[in-house]
Amino acid sequence: MNSLFEKAKSCIPGGVHSPVRAFGSVPGDPVFFRSGEGAYIETESGQRLLDLCMSWGPLILGHAHPTVVQAVQEAASKGLSFGACHRGETDLAEQILKGFDWADQVRFTSSGTEAVMTAIRLARGISMRSKVIKFDGGYHGHFDSMLVKAGSGLATSGLANSAGVPEAFAADTIVLPFDDEAALEQAFIDHKDEIACVALEPVPGNNGLLKQRQSWLKRIRALCNEQCTLLLFDEVISGFRTCYGGVDGWMGVEPDLTTLGKIVGGGMPIGALLGKRRMMEQLAPNGPVYQAGTLSGNPVSVASGLATLRLLEDPAVYERLEQLGAYLEEGLAAIDGVQVVRSGSLLWPYLGDQDIPRRADAIEAVHAERFSPIHAGLLARGFYLPPSAYEVLFLSTAHTEADLDGLIEAWTLEMSA
Ligand code: PMP
Repeated sequence: MNSLFEKAKSCIPGGVHSPVRAFGSVPGDPVFFRSGEGAYIETESGQRLLDLCMSWGPLILGHAHPTVVQAVQEAASKGLSFGACHRGETDLAEQILKGFDWADQVRFTSSGTEAVMTAIRLARGISMRSKVIKFDGGYHGHFDSMLVKAGSGLATSGLANSAGVPEAFAADTIVLPFDDEAALEQAFIDHKDEIACVALEPVPGNNGLLKQRQSWLKRIRALCNEQCTLLLFDEVISGFRTCYGGVDGWMGVEPDLTTLGKIVGGGMPIGALLGKRRMMEQLAPNGPVYQAGTLSGNPVSVASGLATLRLLEDPAVYERLEQLGAYLEEGLAAIDGVQVVRSGSLLWPYLGDQDIPRRADAIEAVHAERFSPIHAGLLARGFYLPPSAYEVLFLSTAHTEADLDGLIEAWTLEMSA
C-alpha cells in the first residue's frame, strides 16, 4: 500500500490535482516524487527513475536546469508577485514574438486552459459569432466549451464529455474528426457564416500523436478565409518543442491566433495568447473582450520562461532534440509490435495492429490494453512514462543515448515478457 496516496485521498479528491495523474488506466498507485535533476526524478522511496513525462512537456531542458533555477531564485528573492507591471513581462513577450513573425502582441495567463479560453472568447468577440469547431481527441484545457470529445485525461478515463457542462455550451461546439475534409466542408456549409473559430492542435498530442497532413491544414485555412472564421493553433504542447516558435513556420499554414503554455514558462505556471495587433487590441483594457488574472505575468514564471527561451534560441538545442528523438524512434520501432509516431522530441509508441492512426476513432482499443502492463513493467525497471496510453513521451536535452538505450532494452524485455 502506498501510504502517501492513501493520505492524499483523504483530503484531495482521488488523491490528485489533475485526473491523469491518478494511474486510472495503468496498474498500481501514483508515484510520489521528491526531486528531479536532468532527465531523472527521485521517488519518495528513494528510487531514481528516468523521466519520459517531464511534467508533460515544459521541462525541455531537463529538471532543475541550473540557469533556469538561478533565474527563478533571483526573481523570487525580489518578490514573488506584484500584480502589476514589471519589465520582465515585456522581455518575455518580445522573446516569444521572435518565434512568430506574423504576430505582434502577447497576453499572459497562468495556464494553457486560460489562454485557450481567452482565445475562444476573443474569436467570438471579434466575429460576433458563437460556434466553434474543434476536433475529436483535441484537448484544449478544461473550460466548458472545449470539454467535448477531448483527449488527455478524458481519453484516459474513457469519458467523451464532462458532467457539469450545460448543453447550451456544448451546442455551440462542433466536433469533427481529424483528417476528414468532407466533414469539414459540410460543417462550413451547415453553419455558414456562424463559425467564430476553428481550434486545433496543429500537431495533436493529447490523444496519441495524430499527425495531420499539411494539405488538410491548408484546407482548414482556406475555408476559414472564405467565411471570415478565425483559425486558432493551440500550441500549448507543440510551441517551442520542435523549433524556436510555433509549428506554423514549417507547416506553411499561418493561424490568426496561437496559444502557448508549458515550455514558455520553463516549468512554472504560464499560458500565453498571441496574435496580430488589430485582434489582440480587442482584449481589455483597450477592447471589449474581458480577460484578467491575479498572477498573470508574475515575475517568477516570467523569469523561468525567459531563461528557458534564451537557451532555446541556440539552434543546436533543436538539432540535439531531433537527434535524440530519431534515436529513440529507431530503437523502439525495431521492437516487434511497436510502431512509433514522432514529431521531434515528442514520441508516441503505438501498440495497435493496424497502420498508425491519424484520427481518434482509428486508435485501436488493443493499444491501451497492451500499454497498461508495459507501463507497470517499465516503472518497475526504473522508467517513468506518462501514466496513459494516450499521452506522448517527452524528451529533453538532459536525456542521453545511453538513457534511451536502457529504455529500448527494457521495452524489448517487456514486450517479450
Ligand atoms: N491545450 C493543449 C494542447 C494542451 O496540451 C493543454 C495541457 N496539456 C492545454 C491546452 C491546457 O493547458 P493547462 O494544463 O496548462 O491548463
